[in-house]
Amino acid sequence: MTDDLSHLLNHLGEDRDLGYDAVVPPIVQSGNFTYPTIASMRATVQQEMERPLYTRGFNPTVGILRKKIAALEHAEDALVFSSGSAAIAAAVLSFVKAGDHIVCVHKPYSWTKKLLVELLERFNVSHTFVDGTDAENYRRAIKPNTTFFITESPNSLTFELQDLRAVAAIAKAHGIITLCDNSYSSPLFQNPIDLGIDLVAHSATKYLNGHSDVVAGVLAGSATHIRQVMSKEFMTLGAIPSPHDAWLLIRGLRTLELRVNRSADSAALVARFLEDHPRIKRVHWPGLASHPQHDLAMKQMRRVAGLLTIVLDAPDEATVERFCDHLKRFLMAVSWGGYESLQWPVCALKGPSGYYTDLPFTMVRLYIGLEDPALLIADLQQALDRM
Ligand SMILES: *Cc1c(COP(=O)(O)O)cnc(C)c1O
Repeated sequence: MTDDLSHLLNHLGEDRDLGYDAVVPPIVQSGNFTYPTIASMRATVQQEMERPLYTRGFNPTVGILRKKIAALEHAEDALVFSSGSAAIAAAVLSFVKAGDHIVCVHKPYSWTKKLLVELLERFNVSHTFVDGTDAENYRRAIKPNTTFFITESPNSLTFELQDLRAVAAIAKAHGIITLCDNSYSSPLFQNPIDLGIDLVAHSATKYLNGHSDVVAGVLAGSATHIRQVMSKEFMTLGAIPSPHDAWLLIRGLRTLELRVNRSADSAALVARFLEDHPRIKRVHWPGLASHPQHDLAMKQMRRVAGLLTIVLDAPDEATVERFCDHLKRFLMAVSWGGYESLQWPVCALKGPSGYYTDLPFTMVRLYIGLEDPALLIADLQQALDRM
């Protein structure tokens, strides 16, 4: 770990003299804050984003986390939300108005899609989904009223990348704001702001917290952009984390580097094992040389993270079920990013939302957790044998 990263994850933003010199920052579990004089209250009201007045705006424990997230994403400022979806929704809503048009990568996170298709449509904000594997598709989709681009590179089911530098350059030339959902890579494996993207969102539920015990989101960007979100949708929607959840996230960040590298190391072993297996038709993981966008992945990401999708060679759902039901070490669950390895069978989630109907029933997403990778591979082997 570099000294900078170690400092950032363990010390940055933690003014120990303000908390009895405790090694771990205290949780300031208070909704409001008091002032001895009108003058001091007035001064705080002027700086509601940086000073404690009311916890919906600023809370000291959340404030520590904001500094760490901003530094991790090479941004000037950051905000913390009660979920990743809230962070994405607040970001988009803060920069579009009725009559605007958004270009979004196809197959984004399901609730990002719902934001566009169901919520924003009602407010006369239209959208176009594009195949982001060719950045030029973003340019082709631009209309006179296009104001916002959404990227998610790679997306979290089929792991298609967008050339973020190219997409950002197209946006800049047209005065369009760009957002990247960077949950997959964590700030350690990819920094979209360095590639020209304006706003970076994460589901902090995943790698950033890393222990499957908090749902939260973050948004990072320039001071101007973050102030715009803060003064608009952040305060209005009020989708804030509790100070306790922020504190759990601060604790999770202390081991971020160890966790994401372990997950990525193991994913590489698992992906290579699966790629060679006769019952596996395809492994979607950009770290494999066989991935169609492997070169781009190597160019814009430092490493490829621990989430991958397999396509089984299975004639029917019963065969998929035999494989999944026999996996012992991969818990069957949505989400990812914690200690425990997970399996997410597409055929179990083709539900009333109808959002997964375009995916084959033979797809299973695997999250490679922190267990011994040899045990994970042995588990996959025995389940494949019994398929
Ligand atoms: C989980 C996830 C989200 C949504 O985050 P929540 O914290 O569940 O609201 C958004 N994007 C990606 C890529 C995710 O994996």
